Amino acid sequence: MAKYIFVTGGVVSSLGKGISSASIGKLLESRGLKVTLIKCDPYINVDPGTMNPYQHGEVYVTDDGAETDLDLGHYERFTNAKLTRDNNITTGKIYYSVISKERRGEYLGKTVQIIPHITDEIKESIKKVTHNQRVDVVIVEIGGTVGDIESLPFLEAIRQLKLELGRDYAVNIHVTLVPFIKSAGEIKTKPTQHSVGKLREIGIIPDIIICRTEKHLTKEVKDKIALFCNVDREAVIQAVDVKTIYEVPLALKKEGLDKLILHLLNLKCEDRDLTGWKNMVVQRLKQPKKEVRIAVVGKYITLQDAYKSIYEALVHGGIANEARILIKKVDSEDIEKKGAEKALKGVKGILIPGGFGYRGIEGKIEAVEFARVNNIPFFGICLGMQTAVIEFARNVCGLKRANSTEFDKNTKYPVISLLEEQKKVKEKGATMRLGAYRCKLKKASLAYSAYKKEEIFERHRHRYEFVNDYRAVMEKKGMLFSGINPAKSLVEIIELKGHPWFVACQFHPEFKSKPDKVHPLFREFIRASIENKEDA
Ligand code: GLN
Repeated sequence: MAKYIFVTGGVVSSLGKGISSASIGKLLESRGLKVTLIKCDPYINVDPGTMNPYQHGEVYVTDDGAETDLDLGHYERFTNAKLTRDNNITTGKIYYSVISKERRGEYLGKTVQIIPHITDEIKESIKKVTHNQRVDVVIVEIGGTVGDIESLPFLEAIRQLKLELGRDYAVNIHVTLVPFIKSAGEIKTKPTQHSVGKLREIGIIPDIIICRTEKHLTKEVKDKIALFCNVDREAVIQAVDVKTIYEVPLALKKEGLDKLILHLLNLKCEDRDLTGWKNMVVQRLKQPKKEVRIAVVGKYITLQDAYKSIYEALVHGGIANEARILIKKVDSEDIEKKGAEKALKGVKGILIPGGFGYRGIEGKIEAVEFARVNNIPFFGICLGMQTAVIEFARNVCGLKRANSTEFDKNTKYPVISLLEEQKKVKEKGATMRLGAYRCKLKKASLAYSAYKKEEIFERHRHRYEFVNDYRAVMEKKGMLFSGINPAKSLVEIIELKGHPWFVACQFHPEFKSKPDKVHPLFREFIRASIENKEDA
């Protein structure tokens, strides 16, 4: 039977509960255990797919096509867990299911209530991830902060679950903030005490407290937290700010967190070291031999989380090439105002990520032209590929005002448009082309030399596609269609002949990159950018 770790958060949000959970997964995996991770999001949206990035940050897509919380991205980057739609539970999903059951008459005349019906549904959803796979430990992260009204049913569900599971089968970990008050020159434990008090009010007693802090905690501070929060002295784990997120597992191991969890769960497994990971972090990530400046041209660049997996995959590309990545975040509307040359000065490579809507599109098209004309390595992803196609159609093939029908319904040259099946779709939620699809690569291509295989599976999240009627004219002018979806003959990767490195794909490779297993396209894009001797 699987064992469970429940991770809650207190005091403030953005404490890095996701990274802590992912790091715990990494530490347990390194000891030979099979783990999986679940994120519970208390909002009422069924999934984050319909949310604006400013509300929620990136929408992370799994192989099975679920649009999920970005923490699942951390889970997949840190561990080998294969995540599916069952690994992200939202209030919306839970209510949707309960209300559907009620309409079908499955509650047999009962009054349907939060306790037990909603909480039972949450517990069942949590247990479901172990149904089709052997898992030793399930790590369940509860989103939000203790004290929020909306997370109460989730907390009640994990309280019940721990009781049902019994001794040695579940551990509660509470992640809190232990602030340093500059004017007093002191570290304060009171917010943590209050937060644990709040948890206790609803019947949850933490076994371990992870204290997020700027400064190292003294013995006295740890003793105080242990005493007031009613946990063992060794169960007060400090998580001091570190330079990169990939250091977190190492820092938590140093504090003895994995040993403590195994003890509490009565699991006996050998202690393998993390040398490989440590070398990656300490040598390749923190002391790289070179630097390379890459522009990311988007419209949500002020929000750190909007392109989370893109930024991480670039860092992985840096690790593989022993280079520090300096990301220049460029607002595509700035390019429209100032011109590409000014906005992109000094970069060695240009990446255009995915996106939706017309705002900023013309700036992105200018950025593509700038990369194409000046031989700057270019990597287009999803909307980035679509803008590359539009630019090529307009400026190389002479198809004036060519566009995607997403931005101009009446364009004379709709080089990007909806497939017939998408035209019928009226609902917005979960109706895009989502999840992993097969793609065949042409042997003589940059894509093949990156992947070194003819068949790949990559994750999609888009409605619009390249229109095959334009393949011939573009091919004639030097575009190479190096990746094709064999089932529907859809263009998945384009390249430009004669350019040092110009690759754009309709899928999202960033979702499958890991620090110790970089995605081949990110590795090659960074390599080409390092080799680019010209300064933009
Ligand atoms: N808006 C485009 C589409 O729906 C691109 C989507 C994306 O970049 N993820 O096809």
